Amino acid sequence: MGQRKAPRDGDRKVGRRALLIGGAAAAAGTAVLARDELARLWWRVPGVEKPRKEGEVDYAGARWVAASDANWRRADRPDDYGIDMVIVHVTQGSFDSAVKAFQDPGHKAAAHYIVRQDGHVAQMIRELDVAYHAGNRDYNERSVGIEHEGFVDRPQDLTDEMYEASARLTALICARYGIPVDREHIIGHVEVPGTDHTDPGPHWDWDRYLRLVRQARTVPA
Ligand SMILES: [Zn+2]
Repeated sequence: MGQRKAPRDGDRKVGRRALLIGGAAAAAGTAVLARDELARLWWRVPGVEKPRKEGEVDYAGARWVAASDANWRRADRPDDYGIDMVIVHVTQGSFDSAVKAFQDPGHKAAAHYIVRQDGHVAQMIRELDVAYHAGNRDYNERSVGIEHEGFVDRPQDLTDEMYEASARLTALICARYGIPVDREHIIGHVEVPGTDHTDPGPHWDWDRYLRLVRQARTVPA
């Protein structure tokens, strides 16, 4: 049995493929293996096993407001896509206008969370699912996106309450998925390959933010 202990990723890919080609595989004489894979792995198919309840949040400090389902894709993270990144955004508008944009099916973009300047956190997409926030498919699939209320050219928009609330959220996300707290794994939208966005902008204080995230990690949830 030790031989079958493939890494989870490889294991899963075989399972998914077996599921897709199950019929063909049976005809090809590998029916036993295919059926075994099916029996063992059917529940890993995205969206089958993990319930999504209206109002349920991944972060206890957040309030649920659903984004339009045109702005995200159903997935089963971290089982189908590993999560190794948090991407920081600034909304270029008010909290309310960001909520409204993410509820608009025509917007074609939304982040998992929005942090308001008073520290209030809204969750609009489950971490299970892929939010369209980075403008890069690979980065969307592997990250959690956090928006912050304000404008990139207004340093006064980046309030203490917002930094602290966001850092607590990012600390929890990093703990949950084993993401290192550093600038390779906590990045700005501007750093996503191929993007034309500049957020979170030159006033975002990365040293301060990472220090707050590290501090929040040491406080038991
Ligand atoms: Zn952005």
